[in-house]
Amino acid sequence: MVEDIRRNEEAGSDDEGQGRADAAGRRDLAVLAAVEQGLLTEAAPVVALLDVAGVRASAAALHAAFAAVTAPGTRVLHAFAVKAAPLVPVLRLLHAEGIGAEVASPGELGLARAAGIRPDRTVLDSPAKTPAELREALALGIAVNADNPQELTRLDALTHSAPTGSPIGLRVNPQTGSGSIGALSTATATSKFGVALRDEGARAWVVQAFLDRPWLTRLHTHSGSQGVPLALMAEGVRTVHELAEEINAAAGRQQVDTIDIGGGLPVNFSSDDETPTHAEYAQLLKSTVPGLFDGRYGLVTEFGRSLLAKHGTVLARVEYAKSAGGRAVAVTHAGVQIATRTVYNPESWPLRIAAYDAKGRPKDGPDVAQDIAGPACFAGDVLATGRPLPLLEQGDLVAALDTGAYYFANHYAYNSLARPGIHGFTTPGRDTTTHGVRFATVRAPQTVAEIVAESGGGHPDALVRD
Ligand SMILES: *Cc1c(COP(=O)(O)O)cnc(C)c1O
Repeated sequence: MVEDIRRNEEAGSDDEGQGRADAAGRRDLAVLAAVEQGLLTEAAPVVALLDVAGVRASAAALHAAFAAVTAPGTRVLHAFAVKAAPLVPVLRLLHAEGIGAEVASPGELGLARAAGIRPDRTVLDSPAKTPAELREALALGIAVNADNPQELTRLDALTHSAPTGSPIGLRVNPQTGSGSIGALSTATATSKFGVALRDEGARAWVVQAFLDRPWLTRLHTHSGSQGVPLALMAEGVRTVHELAEEINAAAGRQQVDTIDIGGGLPVNFSSDDETPTHAEYAQLLKSTVPGLFDGRYGLVTEFGRSLLAKHGTVLARVEYAKSAGGRAVAVTHAGVQIATRTVYNPESWPLRIAAYDAKGRPKDGPDVAQDIAGPACFAGDVLATGRPLPLLEQGDLVAALDTGAYYFANHYAYNSLARPGIHGFTTPGRDTTTHGVRFATVRAPQTVAEIVAESGGGHPDALVRD
């Protein structure tokens, strides 16, 4: 492992895909250091670790991917989809790497502002924006993508009553079809998002809506997340570019000056390979929609999962190792509260699990099929069923890999389980021992007092007063 780390550092590559042994080496070192430095305790039997170098490398790879396909001078804003990792220090790290924010609620906007992300690097996309949210966004100068005709009517009134510097766009649904996970496919015929472009009369309506509103200058689409084939995503972007050209021809000017292509690059949850890469997607877009990259259009992207997922690890203690009906079961502290999608929909969201011993060293031994169970009180709270791993014992550790996006940062408060602490780690220089590993608190573990306070603890008599 140590040798792997050296070899890759010497190669000096921060290329996606090639950083594989690097990332696995950094992760093993961080697990060892987390145990040595006492991050895992009886009071904190589950923690989340975030690989800062990995996040930086993904951000750099995203910039490079689009720089390689755009004409010189093209305006490109990469806005991170905040829902994928709603954590202020993460947003600040991405900001330092030149990445803005895509927000979809007052809370997410608050996080982006707390991270110091400027309004002109922020995009508001929610499907249910209230008048108050719209007013605030317009007052701040944040880009707004309207979802539907009623929202455009609200914007008519708001832009009429107060001038705004906000670029305003319209989200369209190219209705190109579903990916493999229905719940995350936003370009189906009946999706709740955007103006359904293939519905009867919709296209003509959209063109007229732009002609009637000189301030409407952007088009937005997002075909979905994890499970949508790249070709389908690219097809959605092609549809929207074609629509922009049609609007601009009808307007006799470059009214649509920016196209927001959304996010949705899927992540490989089955190995340390980072595939597909941002570069592959950018190249596919360039070959599918060459006109998008000739310099006439500014671009906005909204990637979430592909920037963060591979860089997060959940580390949990095995509290008990038992056997039931001939099956080995490791009862751990990582379950539905940090891996909600995996627990409720294991076929769509399988996670890799790594086994470590109590000291945080990779565990060896013959593979034994075992269930990796969580701490919650329902039978389905299982991260992996019949998974071949070295037989886990009481006090060992399990790591749920690729959990940097939509997992530990999106806590689910079942059984009033505490939000685990999140620690960013760096492994500076060529030091391949744990001495070089530094942790920084991204989010402190939630305390029982905080859980009580959030659960009405401040007004226990609310329902029994006469
Ligand atoms: C969720 C979402 C994204 C990010 O999707 P990823 O799959 O995490 O890249 C981008 N844009 C919109 C509008 C979204 O809803």
